[in-house]
Order: sequence, then structure tokens, then C-alpha cells
Amino acid sequence: MFSHNKRLQYSVRVSECNPALANLMLEQFGGPQGELAAAMRYFTQALAEEDPGRKDMLLDIATEELSHLEVIGSIVAMLNKGAKGELAEGVAAEAELFRSLQGAGNDSHVTQLLYGGGPALTNSGGQLWTAGYIDSIGEPTCDLRSNIAAEARAKIVYERLINVTTDPGVRDALGFLMTREVSHQKSFEKALYAIEPNFPPGKLPPMEPFDKVYVDTSQGPGNMRGPWNSDEHFEYVDGKDARAVDGGDGQASVELSTPQAQAVEAMARRTASDPERDRPTGADIGGEKKR
Ligand code: MN
Ligand code: MN
Repeated sequence: MFSHNKRLQYSVRVSECNPALANLMLEQFGGPQGELAAAMRYFTQALAEEDPGRKDMLLDIATEELSHLEVIGSIVAMLNKGAKGELAEGVAAEAELFRSLQGAGNDSHVTQLLYGGGPALTNSGGQLWTAGYIDSIGEPTCDLRSNIAAEARAKIVYERLINVTTDPGVRDALGFLMTREVSHQKSFEKALYAIEPNFPPGKLPPMEPFDKVYVDTSQGPGNMRGPWNSDEHFEYVDGKDARAVDGGDGQASVELSTPQAQAVEAMARRTASDPERDRPTGADIGGEKKR
């Protein structure tokens, strides 16, 4: 079960009203790399997890992400608070109020009008939050890798948000949230390497020798060799050699029943093209000059 503590995980001290900045912060509230997506990702993974250690870790991190959602949502609310009051009470002249809501020119006036200055479950561009942001597949070595990448992306979004903010209190709280994503990434990395083997994901082995082949499919200047295609794990193959790699004829075939084969043949006959038939078309007629 959940219980709630009214103290935030990190204190939020915003120095002044800034609706435009509030809108940028929504990226980490209801965006794809945001805290709700993170919380739902780990919470749903935890419910289905069989391993007691991973289950515990996922529940701990999911719950912390909800605490982060509360922090970033509070930042949004504080940045909007002054403007929210002015809009609700109609205190300024209309044009002046509109200008102040619009701030740096993003859609913060829309956020004020639609959501009353509260944190909306949208990204910074107004896109509604969607469960499609969560890509769990129910296999721990896949989900842990995806979680590592999700934490890495969240860290970068926080870094960018810090770089567009001068407000010291906002920068401070964002720095904390960014740091926690680094900590989560570390835990997920350790949890991945606590499973052995963890590569390749799943149970079925890859088909040899295709797992070792690196195909130089992009021809032309700029070909580079590096450890990603050169060490003992790889066999470098020139992509100009366009044979089927299995040594077969490279054709697609299927066994059909006699009635199926007859139907396919009839359809092919009915829709066959006659290379001798050159009829005028609308393109020819439309292109004719007037006499
Ligand atoms: Mn977080
Ligand atoms: Mn995290």
C-alpha cells in the first residue's frame, strides 16, 4: 500500500513567478522522460517481477519517482502561482496579463487557460501523457537495459532544464532530481550484471555465424573500422556482395494447396500487364497543347 508524507523529498524554493519556465518544467512532469513515466515504468515492472531483490528495488525506485513527480509538479505550481492568482482575479489589464502569461513566447498562456496554472500531465509542448511512453517487455535483461537508457535520458533532460534556468532554487532542486537519475542508473546497471548470463537477452541462442557478422551496408566514403566492427567478436563483410547470407537462392517461397495455387494464378492472369499496350492516359491528354 502507499502512504503519503506531506514533506517533499527535496525543498522547492522558487524565487519568482515564471509561467514560461513552468511550461518547460512540464517536460519532466508529463513528458516521455518524466517522473510519471518513470514511476509507472518501474511500478508495473515490480508487480510482475519474480526475483525478490529486483522486485524490492523496482518498488523502491518507483516510489521515489512519485516523490520526484511531487517535486517537479511543485516547481511548476510555484512558477505559475503568481500568474494563476492574477488570471483568476483578473487584476491586470487584459493585454498586459496576456503578455505576462505568455512569458518567453511558448504556450504557457494555454497552460494557464486550460489547466489554471496547475501541473498538467502533458509534456512541455502540450502533448498529453500516454502509457505508450512505457516500453517494458517483461524480460528482466531487456527491461533493465531500457531502464538504464530511460534514466540516462531523464538525466539529460534535467541537465538541459538546469541550463535554461537562472533561478537558484529551481536549479538546486533540478540538480537533486538529475542526481537521483544517475543513482538509479547505477542500481539498474548493477542489477543487470547481477544476472548471468545477461547477453543476449532471452533463452534462445543466436544463429551462428550470423551473430558475428558486421555488414558494411553503407557504401561510399566515410567507412570506418573500430572495435564495434573489428575485434574478435566480428567478421567484417563487404555489403557490395549481395548474395543471400544463408547460401540459398534468396527467393521467397511458400507451399500452397492446389485450390490456393489455382486462385493465385487466376488473380495473376486477371491483373497481368501487357507490355505491348500503350494507351493514352489522363497525363497525356492533359499535357496536349491547344491548337
Ligand atoms: Mn526521477
Ligand atoms: Mn529515476
